[in-house]
Amino acid sequence: MENLSNIGVIKDILFRHGFTFSKKLGQNFLVNPSVCPKIAELGNAMPGYGILEIGPGIGVLTNELAKRADKVVAVEIDKRLIPVLDETLSEYANVKVINSDILELDLRGLIAEEFSGLKVAVCANLPYYITSPILMRLLESRLPIGSITAMVQKEAGVRLCAPLGTREAGAVTVAVNYFSEAKILFDVSRGSFMPSPNVDSCVVRFDIRDKTPKTLDEEFFFRVVRGMFSQRRKTLVNCVSGSLGIDKQTVSTAVERSGLNQSVRPESLNMQQMISFSDSLYLLTQK
Ligand code: SAM
Repeated sequence: MENLSNIGVIKDILFRHGFTFSKKLGQNFLVNPSVCPKIAELGNAMPGYGILEIGPGIGVLTNELAKRADKVVAVEIDKRLIPVLDETLSEYANVKVINSDILELDLRGLIAEEFSGLKVAVCANLPYYITSPILMRLLESRLPIGSITAMVQKEAGVRLCAPLGTREAGAVTVAVNYFSEAKILFDVSRGSFMPSPNVDSCVVRFDIRDKTPKTLDEEFFFRVVRGMFSQRRKTLVNCVSGSLGIDKQTVSTAVERSGLNQSVRPESLNMQQMISFSDSLYLLTQK
């Protein structure tokens, strides 16, 4: 479809299909023609690649992905968009649209079935209401994907890519950093969307690490991390003891054994310090 990034063409398609935007599903469609080719190029859409797209909307990014990659599988929750996508993607034999909630799908099975013999990347203009759950699901399940390139709210992008040990970093930043190297590729203004949201956006690429850092118990580590960031103004000892229900003396011993100061604030720790603290606490509590 020639002019899918043209706002007049988009309005015509939506009008013909009687489509109305759902705020609940985070439907802000891209209408800036320069953005999707950039996402596709920087998101590894190229020969030899299968691309998993989340939330194709009317298919404006899907078009750019399908032009460049060997195969695209696009997962869209809103069944009203399926006939629209049938129309806008009709010229591509290498696209499959699945009407489903991305959080409900067996992604490992889907990747094995659809992308056999291909490298795999994820590209998406994410629905903002579930940015973190989607990212965490993709990262934590250790899927065989090389990168995730995603449009997110600017504020979320800054948080996700913040260096650990800075004020902007939170529990999600630690998780993202554990599984990937994240960086903001470019900013996108609110005027690039229809309807226009109240905030600006940015495109972030997460390059998945071949090896994650070593911890004694990954599940325990993430429990400690969530506890660490639950009450930012407290010291590490008070925060972790309160949120995980472990007595202060034990937490204090773990702080000492990991070479940290008793008055340290959780948000000032780097990855190695967090792991060292969590491992010490694990050894003290799992006897
Ligand atoms: N890719 C399109 C674009 O750039 O114009 C649309 C992006 S819009 C921000 C997000 C899309 O995700 C919408 O089409 C919405 O219906 C879809 N969506 C929302 N929740 C979803 C979910 N849980 N699973 C799959 N798609 C979802």
